[in-house]
Amino acid sequence: MAIERTLSIIKPDATENNNVGGILQLIEKSGLRIVAMRRMHLTKAQAGGFYEVHKERPFFGELVDFMTRSPVVVSVLEGEDAVAKYREVMGATDPKKAADGTIRKLFAKDIGENSVHGSDSLENAKREIAFFFAEADLL
Ligand code: GDP
Repeated sequence: MAIERTLSIIKPDATENNNVGGILQLIEKSGLRIVAMRRMHLTKAQAGGFYEVHKERPFFGELVDFMTRSPVVVSVLEGEDAVAKYREVMGATDPKKAADGTIRKLFAKDIGENSVHGSDSLENAKREIAFFFAEADLL
């Protein structure tokens, strides 16, 4: 296994409900290291650009509205097999299908307001990290 980096976003439902600390605790408990972190309020252009791959999906407008509703916390996580490991810590997209102990099982409301984003491949992780952070921000 290789040391990888992945992008995490703690989404508006989680910042609204004061779940940031609980989510970061699960991330650190999994062994992943937070090497950069920023709280920010995404613009529609930023949210639309980030989720560009989903722009033809029926829920795209709803997703952009949701992601811009309140601040988010974006971070870069580093560790062995970080992309797959964080997907495991997050749980399934739909919290009803998420395994016990996962972030989405513990905190998410539904398939749209599901508390966290995590890159789904190493290639996407590189693009998503560069979307928010400069190499010099990763410490
Ligand atoms: P992820 O990689 O597990 O986040 O899932 P996807 O890449 O399939 O979807 C990206 C994000 O779009 C999800 O995390 C949800 O926030 C949102 N999303 C996915 N499916 C739906 C849906 O059916 N309805 C709504 N409103 N949002 C959705």
